[in-house]
Amino acid sequence: MALLKRPNGTEDILPGASEEWQALEGLLRRTAQVSGFREIRIPTFEQTELFSRGVGETTDVVQKEMYTVTAKESSFTLRPEGTAGTIRAILQNGLLNEALPQRVYYILSCFRHERPQAGRLREFHQFGVEMAGSPDPSADAEVISLAHQIITELGVKDVALHINSIGCPECRRKYHEALRAYFLPHKAELCETCQERLDKNPMRLLDCKSPIDKEIGKDAPVILDYLCEECSSHFEKLKTYLDLLGIAYSVDPKIVRGLDYYTKTVFEFVTTSIGAQGTVCGGGRYDGLIEQLGGPATPALGFGMGLERMLLTLHSQGTDLSQPAPCDLYIVPMGGAAAERAMQLAATLRREGSAAQTDVMGRSLRAQMKYADKIGARFTMVIGDNELAAGEAVLKNMKSGEKISLRLDDSFAQAFSDIEIADRLALGNE
Ligand code: ATP
Ligand code: MG
Repeated sequence: MALLKRPNGTEDILPGASEEWQALEGLLRRTAQVSGFREIRIPTFEQTELFSRGVGETTDVVQKEMYTVTAKESSFTLRPEGTAGTIRAILQNGLLNEALPQRVYYILSCFRHERPQAGRLREFHQFGVEMAGSPDPSADAEVISLAHQIITELGVKDVALHINSIGCPECRRKYHEALRAYFLPHKAELCETCQERLDKNPMRLLDCKSPIDKEIGKDAPVILDYLCEECSSHFEKLKTYLDLLGIAYSVDPKIVRGLDYYTKTVFEFVTTSIGAQGTVCGGGRYDGLIEQLGGPATPALGFGMGLERMLLTLHSQGTDLSQPAPCDLYIVPMGGAAAERAMQLAATLRREGSAAQTDVMGRSLRAQMKYADKIGARFTMVIGDNELAAGEAVLKNMKSGEKISLRLDDSFAQAFSDIEIADRLALGNE
């Protein structure tokens, strides 16, 4: 029977690569936690209406990219991003009644029906944070600084921070008029989607991926010229705070972001190392979203970081976070009685926290040694009838070749652990 393949635009994360994901996720969790963000886990699918209302009817995500399933009379959509579901969960569970600001983070998979290419998948993973309750630009600076810290700790090079302000609905009314006036003479040349958007949401035209639309939009008016006093002062303060924190940025008045909910601050961390899909992290403030989803008017902001793009960037720069799966001791039994003893000893070691394996394939001594070598066992120990009779076996350090005799009694696990730790320290000092 023919082997079935995984769907286009999805990836298998295999042993070997999964260790790298774990290392990345560990760093993300630690960094989020020291900044006071706590993990939230939300469902993989939500009512479709959450995204059309939350992300925006005229966005690419909602118009072209959603995976929607109907079950009986209901319509559900696989989350294309994390913010809408997170805000829904915050509201449904009354988290805004707790001390504010509410800070949460998540690591989750997102689903978008896009054309798969390097850095653009149909199922991809995001680390994201959301902070609700503060209208102050210091909150914007804190959230940007968290993303910046992660990128710095990962050692990613060639990542630039671009910031912009897209104002509030007030500033945008005037700006929309200016955009319509600018694009109207070119309406017939625009892509079909943008022709429709011109009336409803002209700012979307600036985020269109079509090269023709991009070219037409080159000299479009920029939002920064239309900011009201409050939005303008918010943006100025943010810049002061970023300077204060020593975070370099450039103002890019063209950034509008692909999701409708943003207000005031928007930002992107962009790398030049992985070609066209270079935005590794994008976010901003969304002061209107919580109210739009039925909650009390509450300012909030956050970002989403694409983990596949982050790993691609690291790999392109020669960084590999993965650590090989550990095997501290491989016990090589010779014969049935020894195999039983080896099984017990390995189980004891694992209970004590050492990574221990023994033969489950009935292999010869030679084949077992080859296997131990392949999995990178740090120590091996052969036990046969002689060792059982003597109650003692020889531990071999696979790297240095050093041999040490160990009693096979109650002292075994502790004695092994002492040797193993001493070896680790010695390696660290090399
Ligand atoms: P793009 O302009 O590249 O399509 P976006 O504006 O759609 O990005 P967001 O919705 O802001 O992206 O998502 C946040 C982050 O998630 C992006 O910066 C990117 O790193 C990642 N991301 C978005 N879509 C994909 C995808 N299809 N495959 C892999 N990563 C993605
Ligand atoms: Mg997109």
